[in-house]
Formats: sequence, C-alpha cells, structure tokens
Amino acid sequence: MVIGSLPRPQWVIDLIDERERETISQDDFDRGLDRAVQFAIEMQERAGIDIITDGEWRRRTYFTGFAQATEGFEKDVIVVQVLDGRTKKWPGIVGKLKHVGPIAVEEVRFVKSCTSRMVKATLPSPYMIDRWFYDPEASSSAYASREEVLQDAADVLRQEVLALRDLGVDLIQFDDAMIGRFIGDEYNPSGTNPKVKITMADRDRELEMAISSLNRVTEGIDGVTTALHVCRGHRGRMHVAHGGFEPLVPYLYRANVDILALELAADDAGTLDALENFPEDKMLGMGVIDVLSREIDPPSVLIERVKSMERFIDRERLILNPDCGFAPGYDNPISLDEAYNKLKSVSAAARQLR
Ligand SMILES: [Zn+2]
Repeated sequence: MVIGSLPRPQWVIDLIDERERETISQDDFDRGLDRAVQFAIEMQERAGIDIITDGEWRRRTYFTGFAQATEGFEKDVIVVQVLDGRTKKWPGIVGKLKHVGPIAVEEVRFVKSCTSRMVKATLPSPYMIDRWFYDPEASSSAYASREEVLQDAADVLRQEVLALRDLGVDLIQFDDAMIGRFIGDEYNPSGTNPKVKITMADRDRELEMAISSLNRVTEGIDGVTTALHVCRGHRGRMHVAHGGFEPLVPYLYRANVDILALELAADDAGTLDALENFPEDKMLGMGVIDVLSREIDPPSVLIERVKSMERFIDRERLILNPDCGFAPGYDNPISLDEAYNKLKSVSAAARQLR
C-alpha cells in the first residue's frame, strides 16, 4: 500500500495555489483535480499497489482538510517556523469543534468510482489536531485544557470514521507525525505553536494523551480496518526527529487499531529490535523503502528487510509500504517518477514474497 500522499505535478500545485488565492472557482478546481486524481490512481495501479489513495492531491497538507470541514476554526491564527526556516500561518481553534462537512468522505467516494482495488482513507489523529491547531489564548474561550480539545477532536473524527465505514472504505488510517517527535533525545518543536511548550520530559504524559484520544475515536467501531501511521515527519528530504521506536512502543501497542504502519527503512530509523514483542492481534505496515533518499533500493534489498522482520512477525501479518507519504506538504520537492519507481520496487518485493 501507499501511506497516503504522492508528489503533485507542477500543474496540480498551481491549481492548489490558485484555489488558495481564490483566482479560480471551486468548480474549476474540482474539475482539474478529478482528472489529476484519476492519473494518480492509474499510476498506483501501474506500480502494482493493492491499497490505494487519491495521493491526497486535493489537500494542501495531510492535515489541513480537518480545519476546513470542522466548525470552530479561524484562518491564520497560529504563526510557526517550519523545518526549512520559513514562517507559516496555520488556522487555530477559536470555538467548539463540531463536525460539519466531510473530511475525507468525498475524496474516498471519488477514488472508489475510479478503481476496483482496495481504497484507504487518511485522517489526522486527534493528537495531531491538538498539536497543530490549539492555542492557549485563541482557544481559551472554547476550551479550558488540551484534554478537552482532544476529546472533541476525537468525537469529530469518530463521526467521519462512521461515515467512511458506511461508504465502504477498506481501510482508515490515522496519521501522527507528532507522536514521532518523541523519538530520540531532543524534542524538535519546528512547525508547532511556540506558545505550547513541550519537551522530552513530557513524553509519557503526551504519548498517553495521544493514544487515549485515538482509542476514543475507534472504541467499539467494527466493519472497517483501521491503521495508525507513525513517522518522524519530513520535508525537503530532512527528518524532524531521528532514532528508533523504543520509547513509543508500549504506547503504540495499546492503540486500538488493526495495523501499525511504521517508518522502518530510513537510515536514522534505529533497528527492527524495537518491535521484538509485536502484539499478536495487530498487523505491521512495514516501511521497507526510505522516502528521503534519492536512491531506489531494488526489490532484493526490500526482501532482505522483510526477512529480518520475520524473526518477530509472521509474513502473513506484514503489509509492505514506503516509510511515509511522499509529500506531506503539497509542494514537497520529491519527483513523481521517483515515487513511482519506489512504489514499483515495493510491489515487486511483495509479489516475490507472496
Ligand atoms: Zn509519515
């Protein structure tokens, strides 16, 4: 499977920019993106991918759709510095969060109309919503604490999960690159609200908040497969955090999801020993190919990675995927052909292992 995002061609980037500047209508944007997404789907099918997405091509970033489809947000409330040093403005939470529009339902409906393969929906985790959009001042009239934000974000996401299940999506994946910030020794706050101070000393409390809010979303929901994707966050071929999954593992194992989709192939991903006691009731979405490197490892290298994982997890419980999405931000500078060739390597490895 893919994780979610694929690099956008320049003309799709232009469409997203024009929509943002309101120089084209929503109808023109939708018409262009319908054609583009058909192309993204065809590309994944050509590469041999079984579980596909729309490449998240309609989104500016993998988490901004939530703010557009939920009541309680205002534009340009939070000013942050991102990984490459640029200043950006995010929407902020200024009122009670309430599910109003579809977050991913319309995206998935379109993908389902274009393919007979399995379809995945991607959503940010509640903890991502809290970490990107909560502001101690702007949010204070609606929320007395981050815990309350997490509860309401979870309830909004739960409504979307139920709608996606009823639509017949095969897999719903929650993305959380913020959990991944607790990898390594030093907390990297880049891209987050400087008014919310978090350090490694808060690791256990924060991870507990992240997993308990996610479990509130999925509690008791059946009829759809769920996944949690955790990575180190990346932009411009740089990771935000570096190191192995060891500190996160006890929390990840308690996540009430069927699949953990983890970044495991990158040079700074630590060793597979971190997953020694992988739970019997979960599958592993194994990151077998680095999305940061310009090198495209051949299927034989990916197969060796899988064989070393089989010490801990049976092959039947492994799904192969790239480490992460290729374009968490819409203009991430990785080429579409590079992503295509990496996906081909992943699917060739899967075929041989099967
Ligand atoms: Zn990721």
